[in-house]
Amino acid sequence: MEHVSEEDLELYCLGRATNEQLAPIEEHLLECPECLGRAEELLATIDTLRAALWRLEWEERHGRIPPGGGSSSPEP
Ligand SMILES: [Zn+2]
Repeated sequence: MEHVSEEDLELYCLGRATNEQLAPIEEHLLECPECLGRAEELLATIDTLRAALWRLEWEERHGRIPPGGGSSSPEP
């Protein structure tokens, strides 16, 4: 079985995969715990990065850290 490439997995996790790309990736993830684990790891990394970016933007805009430390990150 051919695994999902790092590139495809990134596209998928970033929500940038086209519907054409999406279908085979999801199909594979359903069958492959290994790639699903990689996807989960990648998503966690992306979440951490997004939260960090969001906090930085907030600090720039408001000159102080977000209330509650920015544990949740609503869309700007
Ligand atoms: Zn796989």
